[in-house]
Amino acid sequence: MSKFNGIAGSEGIGIGKAVLIKEQELNYEQKSVLKPEDELNRFEDAVRVFVEKTTAMADSMRENVGEKESEILMGHVLMISDSAMTDEVRNNIHDGATSESAAEEVFDMFAAIFESADDELTKQRAADIRDIKTRLIKILQGVHEADISSLPPGSIIVAYDLTPSMTAGIKKENIAGIVTETGGYTSHSAILARALEIPAVLSIQDVTREFKNGQMIVVDGTSGAVVSDPDQEEVKEYTVLKKYHDEEKKELLKFIGKQTETADGDKVGLVCNIGKPEDCAEVIERDGEGVGLFRTEFLYMNSNEQPAEDEQFEAYKKAAMTMKGKPVIIRTLDVGGDKDIPYMNLKKEDNPFLGFRAVRYCLQNRELYSTQLRALLRASAFGEIKIMVPLVTCVDEIRNVKSMIRSIMDDLDKEGIGYNKDISVGVMIETPAAAVMADVLAKEAGFFSIGTNDLTGYTMAVDRGNANVSYLYSAYNPAVIRSIKRIIECGKSEGIMVGMCGEAAADPLMAPLLVSFGLDEYSVSPTSVLSARKVISLWTKEEADKVADVVLKCTTEEEVRELLIRYKK
Ligand code: PEP
Ligand code: MG
Repeated sequence: MSKFNGIAGSEGIGIGKAVLIKEQELNYEQKSVLKPEDELNRFEDAVRVFVEKTTAMADSMRENVGEKESEILMGHVLMISDSAMTDEVRNNIHDGATSESAAEEVFDMFAAIFESADDELTKQRAADIRDIKTRLIKILQGVHEADISSLPPGSIIVAYDLTPSMTAGIKKENIAGIVTETGGYTSHSAILARALEIPAVLSIQDVTREFKNGQMIVVDGTSGAVVSDPDQEEVKEYTVLKKYHDEEKKELLKFIGKQTETADGDKVGLVCNIGKPEDCAEVIERDGEGVGLFRTEFLYMNSNEQPAEDEQFEAYKKAAMTMKGKPVIIRTLDVGGDKDIPYMNLKKEDNPFLGFRAVRYCLQNRELYSTQLRALLRASAFGEIKIMVPLVTCVDEIRNVKSMIRSIMDDLDKEGIGYNKDISVGVMIETPAAAVMADVLAKEAGFFSIGTNDLTGYTMAVDRGNANVSYLYSAYNPAVIRSIKRIIECGKSEGIMVGMCGEAAADPLMAPLLVSFGLDEYSVSPTSVLSARKVISLWTKEEADKVADVVLKCTTEEEVRELLIRYKK
């Protein structure tokens, strides 16, 4: 058995046998042609065949998958019919190039232009251009396309990429899962897999070399895991999971577009945790009501130097605009601890989790922090951005951040640059000190968001990576539960919104406690939106209070866990 982790592209569990789709290598000589007119005719014929074949594929896609997906292929017809793209190919042929090499050069150039774009969706169009190029060259070479229309039931497609043209004739009832070497959540492979409701995991390196035809494979498109050669026990476990998932999925569809509310109609917010602006597309697709935590460290980690103000501004603006006026809570840089950023030259520390990190680092690197705060303020003119400060332990930290923000606002006023003057600046409550001081912090903060991942670790003084003590890492510890209750009470008595963005927000066992304590906003991963909405809808305040009453009398983690399992709906 081997386990691989990739990008969860389309949820669900698929169990079946690997079918490797290997593209035939396209080798052709780079010779020059003697009669360019004949070569031009060969090219025009190939374009004609391409248009005919692709239109037929789009028709079949419209029937078998849907209108939106068929438009992807009709987009290919439009692109190849666009003289802005193909005239350059014709010019090269005129100068003596073969149709194959002319198409390769020009289409690769266009693909590179799309690939260098900032936004993910434009980047993905590079894959369309490459798909068009490969298929056109295949037509020119008389090479047949990989045909996946006649695969046997229970097939797991293993391919470098899943192109729209490959999927046109797909019989979805025969395909148990898809694994690819490339592609992200917004790639065509993922869009098509989701439209076809086939579990898919993308971007696992070298799968087309690692896996063999006929090998047993489990695709867990919900968690992004792929297991090859699972043992009997695992097959049994995944079969149960699959049954559960299939039934649950049907049930959850009822919650799309619904208000998030408790069984007695108390409305709460249900927003999402994201790592980059492009994730907002998934938030909307999964019916999230906004963003409750945008972890900005990925912007810094995916770069060789500190991202410039404009680059950050564009990223935050994009998130705000994609969410169209829905709230977007952006957390300022949470560097240090387990989040190293090489070019920041953080010194090695004996206790990095207790060291120079997050707001502590930012307040001592004011230039770096000002750049981020300025970018955030500028972006606040384009949507409902809120600023959140991580790892606060003392009230002066939030006061200092707010005073920096005020001084940047003065600068922006002088420069005539717009921003939201009433921007809300909130505190992430994730340390015991912040929990104890929550009554005081609530007077300074625009809102609270409880970071249960760190709050659990720091409250229990436990390193979850250390196997000897990881049993202590549980939010069901009475110490953590009491802390959460206190934070919510302190926030509420000052009239500020209290959210939760740690993993506990999506934990169905925690729901009665959070409903009872009166949590205002749950921030969960986009894939958990509907299940969280369902769980919240199951509890009335009165029922939740009864569970909370007994849980608060518990003295150990085991007692709490057992009770929550017993009362789970
Ligand atoms: C948390 O600590 O609960 C949290 C949401 O932040 P992170 O996991 O990024 O530390
Ligand atoms: Mg944290």
